[in-house]
Amino acid sequence: KVKVGVLALQGGVTEHLNHLNQIENVQVAPVKKPEQLNDCNGLIIPGGESTTMRKLIKHYNFTEAIKAFDQQQKVIWGSCAGLILLAAEIEGENNEQLALLNIKVKRNAFGSQLDSFIDKAVIPKVSDSVQELVFIRAPLITEVGQDIDILYQKEGQIAAVENKNIIATAFHPELTKSTIFHQYFVEKVKSLSN
Ligand code: GLN
Repeated sequence: KVKVGVLALQGGVTEHLNHLNQIENVQVAPVKKPEQLNDCNGLIIPGGESTTMRKLIKHYNFTEAIKAFDQQQKVIWGSCAGLILLAAEIEGENNEQLALLNIKVKRNAFGSQLDSFIDKAVIPKVSDSVQELVFIRAPLITEVGQDIDILYQKEGQIAAVENKNIIATAFHPELTKSTIFHQYFVEKVKSLSN
């Protein structure tokens, strides 16, 4: 049985835990201390406020622990603020970050005419069924490196990507009824766990 943690410092922790709990054969835990990562196979960094979360990650000594987690080829999913913290570069900012994913992001930029909106789309690699995509002051991915697969883009605006062991979404699958994205993540965790 694989174990998946949700980084529980700030943001939408409970919603991710609730979605993961609906999936069979996964152990689920809120992660409040870096040591807890030792027995996790996957980690979700939730949405919230990336500046606050960045400070808490540093304060609670998660920076090196999450980098080591990535180096062990364990699976990480960052949604929204989580995506921002994983990005190698944030436009117009110079802040210390995890920088594990070869992408450039722009904060509060996706569908810039609206603060928050819900879209509907099929993301073929994830599922054949139409999914609701919930965007809340969402970041836009403006550049991707060679090792990055684009999972979803609309009119040239990139909102979901992955590489070998990291998934990043600008939207919030944990705020919809569907557990499809969480299942996709758990499958990736399983495939890299033995
Ligand atoms: N706008 C937020 C930030 O820049 C992210 C929003 C979210 O996670 N829903 O941190």
